Amino acid sequence: MSLKDKDPAVYGAIEAEVKRQENSLEMIASENYTSAEVLEATGSRLTDKYAEGYPGRRYYGGCGHVDTVENLAVERAAKLFGAEHVNVQPHSGTQANIASYLALLEPGDTVMGMDLSCGGHLTHGHPLNFSGRFFRIIPYGVRKDNQFIDYDLIRETALKEKPRMIICGASAYPRIIDFERFSEIASEAGAYLLADIAHIAGLVAAGAHPDPVNCCDIVTTTTHKTLRGPRGGMIMCRKNFASQVDRSVFPGNQGGPLMHVIAAKAVCFGEALKGEYKDYIRRVIANSRELAARLSEGGIDLVTGGTDNHLILADLRSLGLTGREAEALLQEAGIIVNKNTIPYDPEKPLVTSGIRIGTPVLTTRGMGPEEMREIAGIILSVLRDRDPQKGSGRSASLAASFPAPR
Ligand SMILES: *Cc1c(COP(=O)(O)O)cnc(C)c1O
Repeated sequence: MSLKDKDPAVYGAIEAEVKRQENSLEMIASENYTSAEVLEATGSRLTDKYAEGYPGRRYYGGCGHVDTVENLAVERAAKLFGAEHVNVQPHSGTQANIASYLALLEPGDTVMGMDLSCGGHLTHGHPLNFSGRFFRIIPYGVRKDNQFIDYDLIRETALKEKPRMIICGASAYPRIIDFERFSEIASEAGAYLLADIAHIAGLVAAGAHPDPVNCCDIVTTTTHKTLRGPRGGMIMCRKNFASQVDRSVFPGNQGGPLMHVIAAKAVCFGEALKGEYKDYIRRVIANSRELAARLSEGGIDLVTGGTDNHLILADLRSLGLTGREAEALLQEAGIIVNKNTIPYDPEKPLVTSGIRIGTPVLTTRGMGPEEMREIAGIILSVLRDRDPQKGSGRSASLAASFPAPR
């Protein structure tokens, strides 16, 4: 309340962003709306507390209550994912990955990771990222014929290159990832296996995607994507890597943990343990499948031909549009997506030939298959006719009928 009077400049920008979120159809696959309770914990006084170290082993006094909070977060995450050991302190997905690399590797070691242009993440070996600068990266991709992960080629490459670690997981891959298959390849090649489930963590937690926790050495995730928690990261592993992982997070690459965010993570895990959350994830996937079917029926090519998860990658070349153009047209029509490379994309990363479309946010707003059919219709008419006016009224009325949580 007082921010409005004391700092109207920041307050005004926040209010404008809240309105933008309310009035548009947010379809960025990595975003979600947190609950009021997650938001309350994130905005709590715990932001003021320094708590370097771990529960019971802190470098500061007065940590009793934040110890309670961190223990709750760890216990709930362990239950949710069936993990032996959990570290809830990473500030982000990127920092969870940095800590995991540091736990398992020495600089210069060979790592196999999915190419960014095929759906991987910057932290899986991009030359400008820490991962690409400090490690020898051998990228792997997807099959040229069907755009599914090329497990046979990964095995062949792993046996030849003998990586110290293989990282699997993706930011823009619409299909199930076969963690068991990766695990067989990693043991045959004598490599550690790191699974990064930043995008699909909510699906894994709800039992709607195979769980990597039992077959991978380390599993990293964000908590703010499908999991619907506060912005942050987390690491799960077996007991044998517990002390290495903990030391890599603190003091390895972070100082004091964000205790307000850890409290919000605990709230989020509590929510995800409930039956309603499983139902939410089922609806996210059903919506994604419905949208994919309607777009593809309408003549839009989809990478891999469809989806098994919360996201769709559309290849716009047959429409004669780039990803950048489509993102701008849809934004003008009230639908927010991101341009995204498609596998072996001929265009540059700031142009691209595709867009990535996700259903987690709109499912949180209560939309179902009927609304997905309506949205597919809007997307098709806007992109085919290059006319945002064809969709703006329809998307505004959909947004008004399904209010965003305040
Ligand atoms: C989003 C994402 C990350 C990074 O998360 P940040 O919190 O943005 O640092 C890491 N890996 C994958 C696969 C992701 O999709």
